Amino acid sequence: MTKPARAKTRMTKPEARIKPETRMTNDQAAPLVSSFGLRHSGLIRISGFGFRVFLLTCLAPLPIARGDSPAGVLRVLASRHYRIHTDLEPAFAEELARRMDGMYDEYDRRLADFRAAGDQPVFDVYLFRHQSDYTRFAGNGSRNTGGVFMSGKNVLAAFLEGQGRDALRRTLQHEAFHQFAWTAIGPELPVWLNEGMAQLFEEGLWTGQGFLLGQVPPRRVRQLQAELGGSRIIPFRTLLSIDNKTWGENLHRDAILGATQYNQSWAMVHFLVHATDPTGGAKYRARLIKMLKLIHDGEDGERAFRDAFSDNIDGFQARFVEYARALKPTPEATLIDHQDVLADMLVELAERGKHFNDADEFRRSVADGGYRIKYNKAQVQWSTAEDPLVYFCDLTGRPFGSDRLYLSPRTGAVLPDLVCRGTDRFQLRTRFHQVSGGSRVEHETVIDALPGVAGVR
Ligand SMILES: [Zn+2]
Repeated sequence: MTKPARAKTRMTKPEARIKPETRMTNDQAAPLVSSFGLRHSGLIRISGFGFRVFLLTCLAPLPIARGDSPAGVLRVLASRHYRIHTDLEPAFAEELARRMDGMYDEYDRRLADFRAAGDQPVFDVYLFRHQSDYTRFAGNGSRNTGGVFMSGKNVLAAFLEGQGRDALRRTLQHEAFHQFAWTAIGPELPVWLNEGMAQLFEEGLWTGQGFLLGQVPPRRVRQLQAELGGSRIIPFRTLLSIDNKTWGENLHRDAILGATQYNQSWAMVHFLVHATDPTGGAKYRARLIKMLKLIHDGEDGERAFRDAFSDNIDGFQARFVEYARALKPTPEATLIDHQDVLADMLVELAERGKHFNDADEFRRSVADGGYRIKYNKAQVQWSTAEDPLVYFCDLTGRPFGSDRLYLSPRTGAVLPDLVCRGTDRFQLRTRFHQVSGGSRVEHETVIDALPGVAGVR
């Protein structure tokens, strides 16, 4: 598999500015693969695209046990739709099971046309604490992947180590779509559509009550704009005809092309699902469902696209490019992006011995220092805003008061939780975890619906 980019970030003060290339290093060390997006892990932030593979493989036998168990010994957790074999910490595994059931309901609701009569299947999922156990289970072909759907056994596997909890959650939302689609739609889904839809679900935000779908994360927009600006958009004709084998070969051959394949597929599916007509209705969604039905009934992907949408592939591409150029991040995903920046700053400053009693102290320190973070991915380099106070404001530019952005100490945690009531609908809570024997700090962000907000979807 192609190595995904691994990125380092450095926090800088303006007065210490030196030549950018000396600060934006590309780490060539063995990659730690994750799903799409920035990964946060103390001084080293890992970013990259998830290179997911379909494997036809026999499963290695593993010891299965029930109850709480040490690493490597799997217990079985049964949810409504999944049988989860895992050695993850029980509370986290149970949370993942609830989310996976919630995600399944979304797949099922949005693809109700493909619901089979009778009982719904229960899918097997293997979630490992350690990457080595995952690789042993899924085989060498899964090396450099953060998760995998093994179509031969209809089994999904993933691991936590080094990825962080947020990345594992997204990986599961992605891989479980492949598993669902394989069963509901069939094995012949074109790779761009399969990956695009999986990523659309991957970006869903769990509120504890349901998923906010259709999200446009700023990092995807940064990537898309770089692709549009650099004329790296893959012609529609090419993308529509790429098969699984070519897709995989592209990943091996060219990491940037591999990343573009993923991101453009996400953007195309976002376009097909969320583009609106002048009355505000979904412009292409019905035709996308028609295309899926044609594929389900045995038509090949390219032909199904022409039948459902248009023979005018170039015209269709032109409309997609217009959509992509105008695409703006969604508010919820932007708040999470901002929260991640603040969390990275907290970690970086803690590494420098700076700890804060409250968010005001944190804000003053960041403002006085004029801190910025430079992120480096193979495809996109970007820096946080010149004025770091942007991250201490809501999306209208109004500074958060101490009731909306605050530090909340948590027993046993390496840093206090960072809590932000970014909107009046929900709050974000970032928790910090020490990992790898205490040498790295990771963070995860969860969304809590605020009291009185019913049915956030
Ligand atoms: Zn995938």
